[in-house]
Amino acid sequence: MEQVKDKFDRPLRDIRISLTDQCNFRCSYCMPAEIFGADYPFLPKEKYLTFAEIVRIVQAAAELGVEKIRLTGGEPLLRKHLSELVHDLYTKTSIKDIALTTNGVLLPKYATALKAAGLQRVNISMDALDDRVFKEMNGRAVGVKAVLKGIEAAKAAGLGIKINMVVKKGINDHQILPMAEHFKKEGIPLRFIEFMDVGSTNGWQLSSVVSKKEIIRLISSQFPIESVKGSYYGEVASRFQYQDGSGEFGVISSVTESFCSTCTRARVSADGKLYTCLFSAKGHDLKPVLRSSDSIKEVKEHIAAIWNQRIDRYSDERTEETAKNRPKIEMSYIGG
Ligand code: SAM
Ligand code: SF4
Ligand code: SF4
Repeated sequence: MEQVKDKFDRPLRDIRISLTDQCNFRCSYCMPAEIFGADYPFLPKEKYLTFAEIVRIVQAAAELGVEKIRLTGGEPLLRKHLSELVHDLYTKTSIKDIALTTNGVLLPKYATALKAAGLQRVNISMDALDDRVFKEMNGRAVGVKAVLKGIEAAKAAGLGIKINMVVKKGINDHQILPMAEHFKKEGIPLRFIEFMDVGSTNGWQLSSVVSKKEIIRLISSQFPIESVKGSYYGEVASRFQYQDGSGEFGVISSVTESFCSTCTRARVSADGKLYTCLFSAKGHDLKPVLRSSDSIKEVKEHIAAIWNQRIDRYSDERTEETAKNRPKIEMSYIGG
C-alpha cells in the first residue's frame, strides 16, 4: 500500500467529507443563529460534489493509504439519498470503515437504511441531558428526547455509537457529570470536546474552554477511572475507563493539549475543496481534476501533491491572537 506523507512525516489516514453546509440546528459554538440566518450565503446545492465524484475521491484516497472515512457537515442527514452514497462507498471502494457524525434527530428515519447500506458507526452530538440547557445550546429549542430517540434508533439498527459533547464554560459544564453518569449506565462511550476557535463567528475565548484536566478531575472525583492506551496512531481522544468495568469515555483536548504532531486527517467540503487542517483559511479545489477526466490516478496524484506540501500545525501554535485574527473557515462548512 502506497503511503503519502506530509512535510512532518505524517501519513494521510482519514478523510472527512462534508455533504452539506446546512443544518437543522444552530448550535451556539458552531452556527450561531444570529449569523446563520435566512440571508446567510449557504452553498447553492448545484455546487455540491456528486456522489460519483465523492466515490472517486475516496477511491483515490484509499490508494494513498486512507483507511477510514467519516461523513459530516453541516448536518449530513439533510443530504438527500444519503444511503445510496453509503452503499456506493461500501461497494465501490476498499474502505469498509465508514462513519457518520450527526446531531441525531433524523436517525429514527434513516438509521436502518444506512446500516443496511454499509454504515458502521455514528457519532451523535449531544451537549446536555438537561432539556433547558440543550434547547438553548442547539439554538432551535429541540428537546433532549429527539436525540435520545436517535440514539435508540442507531442502537436498534446495530450501529456502533459514540456521543460527542462540546463543553463550554458557564453554559453546560455542570452537565459533565450527569452526561457521564447517563452514558456510563447506557454503556455508550462519551467524548468530551474542548470548545474550539474554529471559524470566526462563534465568539470563542480561551476563558470559555473547560480543559481536559478539569474534565478528568471532575469525573474522577465521582468515579474511579484509569487511562486506556491509545489504540492507533493519530487517535485524537485521550481515553479513560471506569474501574468498575462499565465502559469508557474520552476527551478531545484540541486546545489545551494539541495533537498536531500525529494529525493524519484531511477534510473535503461539500463543494469539493480539500483542506489539510481544520483551521485552514483556504482549500484546494478538487473539482477541476475530478471533472477533466475519469482517471482515479490523476485525483490520487493531485491529493498526494497537496498532502506532500502540508505543514499545518495550527493548534500547536495557537495564541489568543491567532484565534482572533487569522482567517478561518467555518466548522459547518468544512465538517467537524
Ligand atoms: N451536525 C453534525 C453534528 O453536530 O454532529 C455534524 C457536523 S458538526 C460540525 C461535527 C462536530 O463538531 C460535532 O460533534 C460538534 O459538536 C463539533 N463542533 C462544532 N463546533 C465546534 C467547536 N467550536 N468546538 C468543538 N467542537 C465543535
Ligand atoms: Fe449543526 Fe452540528 Fe454545527 Fe450543531 S454542531 S450547528 S448540529 S453542524
Ligand atoms: Fe490537525 Fe490542524 Fe487540528 Fe493540528 S490544528 S490537529 S494540524 S486539524
